[in-house]
Amino acid sequence: MNPISQLIELFSKFPGIGPRQAKRFVYFLLSKDAEFRNELSGALARLSEEVSQCSSCFRYFQRSGGEEKICSVCSEDDRDKAMLMVVEKDVDLENMHKAGIWNGFYFILGGAIPVLEKEPAKKIRAKELFYAIQDRAKNNGLREVVLAMNANSEGENTAIYLLKILEPLAEKYSISITSLGRGLSTGTELEYSDKETLKDALSSRR
Ligand SMILES: [Zn+2]
Repeated sequence: MNPISQLIELFSKFPGIGPRQAKRFVYFLLSKDAEFRNELSGALARLSEEVSQCSSCFRYFQRSGGEEKICSVCSEDDRDKAMLMVVEKDVDLENMHKAGIWNGFYFILGGAIPVLEKEPAKKIRAKELFYAIQDRAKNNGLREVVLAMNANSEGENTAIYLLKILEPLAEKYSISITSLGRGLSTGTELEYSDKETLKDALSSRR
C-alpha cells in the first residue's frame, strides 16, 4: 500500500475522524516540510519508548528512565489505601490531583457509558475495576469507593452501571460506594472544575 493510502487508513481510525478528514490530514502533512514530519514521527516513537500505563490507576505517564510500572501519583507514600476514587479520564485525575484535596488512590475508567449502550462493559475498564476493588478490599482494607463521574447523562449512566456491578463486592467487604455531591452543576466536567467546586462536591458526597 502506498504511504498516502496507508496514512489515510490510519487517521480514519481516530475518534470522530472519517476518511475525508483523514485525507485532509495527510495532504496537510505533505504540505509541511520534512522537519515537521520528522518531529511528528519522533514524538510518536517516544510514545512507545517513554510512556507507560500505570498498573494501579491506568493513567498514562512518562517513565523517568527506568522500567517503573506505577505512576508518580500512585507512588506517593502518604496515600490512604482505604480510599479509592473512580474517574472517567486521565485529565480528571490530573485536575483532581492538582487541586490537592484527595489523598486516596485513583482508578481511571477510560471513558463513560452512553445512555442505551448495549455493551456497557466494553466502553470502560469494568472488569479491571472490579478486580482492583476486590484486591484492595482483600489486601489494603479498602473502605470507600467514590464514583467521581462528570455531571452529565453519560456520567450518571456510568455510575448506575458501576453501582450494579460493584454491589456484591460492597456487600461482601463492607465498602461504601459514594458519588460526588452535585455541588457540580449539571453539565459540569471534572476536567474544567476549579478547586473549590471539586472540594464542595467531594465533601458533599453520599
Ligand atoms: Zn497511577
